[in-house]
Amino acid sequence: MEWLKELNKEQLEAVLSTEGPLLVLAGAGSGKTKVITYRIAYILNMGLAKPSNILAITFTNKAADEMKERIKKLVSVESFSEMWVSTFHSACAKILRMEAHNIGFSNNFVIFDMQDKNQLLKECFTKLNIDEERLELKFVSRLISNFKNMLIDPSDVYKEGNVDPRVVEVYRLYNKLLKEYNAFDFDDLLYYTIMLFKTNPDILEKYQHKFKYILVDEYQDTNHAQFYLIYLLSQKHRNICVVGDDDQSIYSFRGADVRNILEFENVFPDTKVIKLEKNYRSTKIILSAANEVIKNNKYRKSKSLWTDNNGGEKIYLYSAFDEIDEANFVSMSIKNLIQSGIKPSEIGILYRTNAQSLNFENSLSSHSIPYKVVGSLRFYERKEIKDIIAYLRLITNPDDNLSLFRVINVPKRGIGPSTVEKIKVLSDEYGISAYRLLKEKGNFEFDRRTYAKLYDFILLLERIRTEAESKSVVEVIELVLDKTKYMESLLSSKNEEDFQRAKNIEQLISAAAMFEEENEDKSLQNFLNSITLNFEEDDSQKEDKVMLMTVHAAKGLEFEVVFLTGLEEGLFPLMRSENEIELQNELEEERRLCYVAITRAKRLLVLTYANNRRVFGRFSSRQRSCFIDEIPTKYIQQIYTPLMIIKSSGTQISGNTESSTKKALAVGDIIQHKKFGIGKVLSVSEDMNEVLIDFEKFGQKRLLLSYANLIKI
Ligand code: ATP
Ligand code: MG
Repeated sequence: MEWLKELNKEQLEAVLSTEGPLLVLAGAGSGKTKVITYRIAYILNMGLAKPSNILAITFTNKAADEMKERIKKLVSVESFSEMWVSTFHSACAKILRMEAHNIGFSNNFVIFDMQDKNQLLKECFTKLNIDEERLELKFVSRLISNFKNMLIDPSDVYKEGNVDPRVVEVYRLYNKLLKEYNAFDFDDLLYYTIMLFKTNPDILEKYQHKFKYILVDEYQDTNHAQFYLIYLLSQKHRNICVVGDDDQSIYSFRGADVRNILEFENVFPDTKVIKLEKNYRSTKIILSAANEVIKNNKYRKSKSLWTDNNGGEKIYLYSAFDEIDEANFVSMSIKNLIQSGIKPSEIGILYRTNAQSLNFENSLSSHSIPYKVVGSLRFYERKEIKDIIAYLRLITNPDDNLSLFRVINVPKRGIGPSTVEKIKVLSDEYGISAYRLLKEKGNFEFDRRTYAKLYDFILLLERIRTEAESKSVVEVIELVLDKTKYMESLLSSKNEEDFQRAKNIEQLISAAAMFEEENEDKSLQNFLNSITLNFEEDDSQKEDKVMLMTVHAAKGLEFEVVFLTGLEEGLFPLMRSENEIELQNELEEERRLCYVAITRAKRLLVLTYANNRRVFGRFSSRQRSCFIDEIPTKYIQQIYTPLMIIKSSGTQISGNTESSTKKALAVGDIIQHKKFGIGKVLSVSEDMNEVLIDFEKFGQKRLLLSYANLIKI
């Protein structure tokens, strides 16, 4: 195991301490994820456990995939695919697929995403005659989510003090309907797994026995249910290793609780605690800036983080006129960076809110720069995709009412809204799913003409189900398209939009083909699982594209170059509370977010903000973020034109940033550049990092000296 030599002393200790509870508490970029990866490889190589005895929890699916890839390179064991490396949600979904029948669900349940959840909540509101004006749906949705994360069921809510009784009613009905539809929402996956274990000690014991080693990355962002789950699972072997950084706790709005870190040592009193203090990711300047920002938080464990990486470039700051100017600055800079040889996938554009992506998307497209928005459900949110998925869900679970109502008249088959309404009412009265209602009671509840149409629909579903049994996912999708005449109806339309929809469906088929190639379990159910649980489309690693994402989605990732955008008061920090104490907490969480954002950058960090921004269509002037001012000015260099970085061919971006030309260049010098040819130096920045050159053929360009391979002539 040569590779153990890569680790520093503390990291090695964390890897080798395989037995008993271990807590690794350390700052960004100090190798926490690396420790988990190497620890698993070590356990496998030493034969301490089989792959099937390992449960490793990552925060995103993307992180899980990356971790698996890395481990694969380090070990040579068989049955590698039996190892569980996944998010909490995926792991629980996997357990419930095998065990849900023990708690009154059937194993072929469907998973409801946010949209499904809100749709169902809307139905609850209607059924309970609750006015959305009076009680906000989003608020109730979040509250229910919090209850589930705290393992509070409807009958326990009253213990929480002052909760609106209507919320409890919604919560109760919502759960009841989910059960009728044989569906789980995201929070349920954890909630019911825990419930399964609590009510079935023998099943719990089976999994306790199975998971000899449990490892959790990004532990600071676990919520109570997640903590409790790993607590339960680790009771037998007690080989539980969690790694985290309290400064990167950024999901408290979703119920994540930093106290889990403290609680860990209480629950496992013999915990070994290891601290890592060396940062391997970022340059000195970037790391110092991050440290300076996070220092302003009162509620934190102070810790030191140092690096022996070189000082690096200054942090660049661009003050844009408006959000369009900001996006163009970023795109043009990126174009230059790519021309200089930096891979698009090594560049990240980060923003605080999802809505900000649009301007960047437009601008990048117009500059023909390949990009990818990570973490958006966009593709799977499209109508046509949701329609097809609804059919697929109905194949695996005909009781899924939400899907049934979605497609009962898609493509149009003459089943009108009043019939749909009647089905809803009747299935409520009978207390059975719509599918069963139509099948068992349809002929005497509906008139003949209506029933004929409904019967055709049920028959269609049954035919598809029977035929689907022996088919692959791709074939099943094609079968659905064919039998329902979905594709036909799109292609016969003259509408450009319908043509696009057909294209999207083609893409869905490609995604299914890819899924079949990459997964051992090629079942339709697993496919549906993977698309519902994949917050990020997971092909990102293979594509060389600029990555766009929210700061939340960037957790754990790293890029050579990071553009941190929209640094304006009211946007980042984004604060909503009116209450003084809550405001303070929110500001601290925003600051942790900012710390996460800064520490994603390895070599180059570029900050931007707009002086004006259209908010809800109105143009308003903005103030730059307080976080910018928390970074000492000595680390920052303001720029006025897009970055122009030329990397000398063949050399890595890392490595020496001291250019040999650096000290020698002065205003008036004539230089030669590999690509732009002969030019004259117009100015050199004070710190000698940047030069402005007037090229004979290309006009004025601003270059970073450390990357520009300039020859003085
Ligand atoms: P974050 O808090 O952002 O999740 P982390 O603590 O998980 O960060 P890693 O992502 O594991 O840190 O490591 C950061 C970078 O440093 C990676 O590129 C990793 O390969 C590198 N690294 C970690 N440890 C070492 C080491 N001992 N020698 C060389 N490189 C290392
Ligand atoms: Mg990490």
